[in-house]
Amino acid sequence: MGGGGKRTWQVRITPRIPGEPGFLRWALEGARCGTWTDEEILAAERHLADLLLALAFRTGMEGQWQQEGARLPVRSIDLEDGEKAFRRGLDAVQPTDGRLLLEIRMPSQCEQECIFCVGNRDGPPVPVNRTDAKPGGLANCRVLLSWLAGMHRSGTKTRMMLTSSDPLNSPLLEPLLKDLAAPVVEEVFIATTGIRMADARDARWLGGLGLPIRLLMTLHGPTEEIHDFVARRSGAFREVVAALGNCREAGIPVELNHVVVRENLEHLPETLRTAARLGFRPWVSMFLGGDAIPEAVSRRNLVPFTAFGKLLEAHRDLVLETVQDFKHVPECVLPGWARHMGTYGYFGRRRDPPGSTPGACRDCPRFETTCMGPTKSYVDAFGSAEFHPPA
Ligand code: SF4
Repeated sequence: MGGGGKRTWQVRITPRIPGEPGFLRWALEGARCGTWTDEEILAAERHLADLLLALAFRTGMEGQWQQEGARLPVRSIDLEDGEKAFRRGLDAVQPTDGRLLLEIRMPSQCEQECIFCVGNRDGPPVPVNRTDAKPGGLANCRVLLSWLAGMHRSGTKTRMMLTSSDPLNSPLLEPLLKDLAAPVVEEVFIATTGIRMADARDARWLGGLGLPIRLLMTLHGPTEEIHDFVARRSGAFREVVAALGNCREAGIPVELNHVVVRENLEHLPETLRTAARLGFRPWVSMFLGGDAIPEAVSRRNLVPFTAFGKLLEAHRDLVLETVQDFKHVPECVLPGWARHMGTYGYFGRRRDPPGSTPGACRDCPRFETTCMGPTKSYVDAFGSAEFHPPA
């Protein structure tokens, strides 16, 4: 306690986990140990809340939204809904503590057919329509823009995530973004193949909007041969490389993801080197299968976590140097030195049948808090002997 009626606090910041200083660097560099005033404590609290929010947003496309959703629900609306349903959907959206995570489902088509995709289909490519928006969708965009401006005026901080096959291909992308004023939203997050950004003019248009846009793209492998095979699109590797360069020039922040499936597992070290050459520290996510994915797609792509763990162990220095973090990898299968890099995601309980959760997970303190455990498809394929509550 300090004098003059003002309370002060003794503060000591100590990394709790060996190898964790990266996580706490913000605190160690920006703050100090010693005596803090109430105001400083409050400022630090706010800083920490923002940091946690930022971390939640860093933890992966689904994972980040679901993790954040654990304390701040993700509200979803569909721009293709009929007028009445769309307005009803918006009316039901309420911020939580002045914050809003809004998922906007955009009508669109994807130009890839990744071998692990939930929308995996065999057949000719679907023609992409980026320009012919339906009148109902355009009307919904106008309603949404005015609603977002109202939210902003009322002091709500909104983050938007545009979803669907590839939102950058949506004919509603331009109508939605061109009249969105930058201060109205804190972020517009878009997961995309990046194909559209391979055209430098489109990247300049998106960057020129002056919005807080962040893109997520995926590198499927280290070479044209492997990337194109996994994406099932000839030229996809060249497109993503061009897109990354164009976005950099246009000032659009991009994060890079890599999804580990059977076809690219052994190429992981080279993929990491390629990402580093391109100037990125990728998230490394595991394909998990799950009830939304056709069983044949799961069987074809699942990789035993033990094989993944062995690969990490064999390339420890490279992994530490080049990986941003891991997603969808249970803590108990990561090598000890890599556990601080894991953000396992919490998807909410899957619709796997009751009783399909391994006994080890049911007894694990991480279960349904920071780890969702393996999917039923995974356990059916590889059993559950490798899972055990981490020490
Ligand atoms: S035992 Fe199950 S819940 Fe616990 S960390 Fe491992 S996979 Fe996750």
